[in-house]
Amino acid sequence: MTDPRDAARAAARRIKACEARGTHAFLAWSEQALLEQAEALATAGTAGPLAGEAVAVKDVIAERVFPTTCGSRILEGYRSPFEATAVRRLRDAGAMVAGKTNCDEFAMGSSTEHSAYGPTLNPAAPGRVPGGSSGGSAAAVAAGVVSMALGSETGGSVRQPAAFCGIVGIKPTYGRVSRYGLVAFGSSLDQIGAFGKDVVSAARLLAAVSGRDALDATTLDQIPLAEPGAAPTSLAGTVVGVPREYFPEGLHAGVRAATDRARAALQALGAEMREVSLPHTPYAVPAYYIVAPAEASSNLARYDGVRYGRREDGGLRDVRALYRATRGRGFGAEVRRRILLGTYVLSAGYYDAFYRRAQRVRERIRTDFARVFAGGVHALFTPTTPTPAFRLGENLADPLAMYLSDVYVCTANLAGVPALSLPIGRDAGLPLGGQLLGPVEGDATIIRIAQALEAVLDGGAEVR
Ligand code: GLN
Repeated sequence: MTDPRDAARAAARRIKACEARGTHAFLAWSEQALLEQAEALATAGTAGPLAGEAVAVKDVIAERVFPTTCGSRILEGYRSPFEATAVRRLRDAGAMVAGKTNCDEFAMGSSTEHSAYGPTLNPAAPGRVPGGSSGGSAAAVAAGVVSMALGSETGGSVRQPAAFCGIVGIKPTYGRVSRYGLVAFGSSLDQIGAFGKDVVSAARLLAAVSGRDALDATTLDQIPLAEPGAAPTSLAGTVVGVPREYFPEGLHAGVRAATDRARAALQALGAEMREVSLPHTPYAVPAYYIVAPAEASSNLARYDGVRYGRREDGGLRDVRALYRATRGRGFGAEVRRRILLGTYVLSAGYYDAFYRRAQRVRERIRTDFARVFAGGVHALFTPTTPTPAFRLGENLADPLAMYLSDVYVCTANLAGVPALSLPIGRDAGLPLGGQLLGPVEGDATIIRIAQALEAVLDGGAEVR
């Protein structure tokens, strides 16, 4: 085992070099903080499963070494008095927190451009966004700074940046990882997820942080996920469904070529490929962009200038002036848009027309998946995103275009099923991701299939 102090110094060197290139993957990090953690580990003599690993942590996850800002001005400099369960488990496994990574404000976005502290660059694709909202974590792994990072998902925020940056990202089954200490966005959708430079790294990180937690009543009463085994060399007996709604006519030619190649590789491994249908897929984006803002409008009510972070006194006239000034100046445009949307769809007279209908659609999406998995399909294979990473600024003025980039990822959050993205090729140098989705609690199944596919497919190869 390497001395954690050497690992800490090496990680600090890599972070410094990455940030000197202008990547802006981190909102907070310091060599001293790394060394202090390494010192504590060395003294404790811990040799857990993640011994000596420096793990980057998305800034929506609370810990005590650095501020937790959620990429927002309203929490600028805010220090959490407690640590997320996932972070505590990282430490118990022998890992250190490398630093806090950049993200879209309160995890609302698909490009990291909605961070109040400026965007992150995609180390794998110059001039392109790293995806979002966990773009900083994805960039830190893609730049080779860390092998693992924690992100969070409400509607694809781990898988989409993993695809854009050419790395692996896993969103576990809802309830697999404790949400204690994860700043709430849409609580019925939120899950902490894991990034890795390869499938095994992401799976090892997920295994370390998963499991029942008395501090989060929605965690599953399951045996924690085991450390991944060796990559299987055959997928004989595995049925992989290919949902036709994820491969529409007019699909981006590079995405088509990469997914065709990956499908052929799965078949060559012995998997039975079966075309299936998830008929309610076209309604996922509209349903997601009602349910998630509705929950966000309620969750974000707590940032009132009294209990957390920033306070603008609004001239000290009355408490309303304080709320208005604090929230008006503290939240960015996208967060304000979500709060307005969410408040609207929950208000009297609109609740039935929007929120209740979206909940019905959500239930249908959930049963679409349940039906396919009950029919003998072990996992589904799809593209992760409809296009490779877009240019910085390309979708910034058009919220709808930004929302539509979540079309293949937000379904898993609505249904609560596990899903992962792995690199399946490049188009004109831009990374492309393939997605595996599993049934509830089928996390280990999709990890195993991903390991097999990764072992036979050159995920960095040009596909056309
Ligand atoms: N892009 C989606 C949104 O903006 C998903 C975000 C997330 O998963 N945190 O809501």
